[in-house]
Amino acid sequence: MENYSILIPSYTVGPEAYKKVPEYCKTYGRTAVVIGGTKAMAAARDKLLAATQGSEITILDFVHYGTECTFGTAKILERHPSVQKADMIFAVGGGKAVDTAKLVALDLDKPYFSFPTIASNCAASSSLAIVYNEDGSFCEFVHFLNSARHIFIDTGIIANSPIQYLWAGIGDTYAKYYEVSVSAKGEHLEHYKAAGVSLSRMCIDTMMDHGEQALKDNRAGIPSYDLEQVALTIIVTTGWVSMLVARDHTMDYNGGVAHAFFYGLCSLPNFTEDENRLHGVVVAFGVLMLLVIDGRKEECEALKAFNRKVNLPTKLSDIGVTVEDVAKAAPEMVKDADLEHYPYRVTEEMLVEAARYLDTEE
Ligand SMILES: [Zn+2]
Repeated sequence: MENYSILIPSYTVGPEAYKKVPEYCKTYGRTAVVIGGTKAMAAARDKLLAATQGSEITILDFVHYGTECTFGTAKILERHPSVQKADMIFAVGGGKAVDTAKLVALDLDKPYFSFPTIASNCAASSSLAIVYNEDGSFCEFVHFLNSARHIFIDTGIIANSPIQYLWAGIGDTYAKYYEVSVSAKGEHLEHYKAAGVSLSRMCIDTMMDHGEQALKDNRAGIPSYDLEQVALTIIVTTGWVSMLVARDHTMDYNGGVAHAFFYGLCSLPNFTEDENRLHGVVVAFGVLMLLVIDGRKEECEALKAFNRKVNLPTKLSDIGVTVEDVAKAAPEMVKDADLEHYPYRVTEEMLVEAARYLDTEE
């Protein structure tokens, strides 16, 4: 039998979460460098300095990560004197800054801690980095990086972040449940994979229970209980699930129709991400496609009712796409890596038929 370890990052959450920084970081070193985006560092700077003042931890510098997570950006950061000198890295931001810090941490063999300043994705907790080319186009997924030693989630900062991040994050997060549970259907699962699939259920339940109120509280800038539950599910639960269901290369239950739908549409020249077509919003619609294709029209209606409450899309035109667009993108959708492990073959006809069904609102 093979020996293996499962390492899942721990977290601290709350409006004063950073106060725990000295306690959880001191075993890894005495000096830290912050790597982050401009807005994220502006939001976190004072709280980080206050939390570490008079403690055993000294923040050497705040270094702007760049504009895109590229291998080139990571190399530039690795040559920065403060980055070289620090014992550990504090990755502050949304997705790209944290992913860039992961590449730096790997190359320099330094521990890193993550400080998500928005609740939109699981970059802070996952061991994956989404790397882009210098021109901003997608380059590759870098899997199996080290995950953060601890995640510090300041809900005060998140409550004051722009609402569209949480809005899109809700869609991308509930997709995790539908995609993982369908991908693993009928499989014999060992302990950690079974744990990941069971845990994915939270990705829809928490959104149904707290999503609507969390959005209201984000709009009002209140770090409420509902916002905390939703933020934790978006940032932490999805990351844990991703790691548990894809520990090795041989079997990855992440991904499914919803993400294949999004990436397929991205191949169309007239499809660009905008305010109504954020990744998580299109993926939220992709879940409706998944349910229709999976023959679960009743569940599709229930999810549409939830989407209506939180203003996520319920019909194809809500994301500015036509049945013809889906037909054009369908050859790309069926080839997408997200469908590599699926219980049945998804065909172009299935996608077009589902799009037609979802083209009109009953
Ligand atoms: Zn996604």
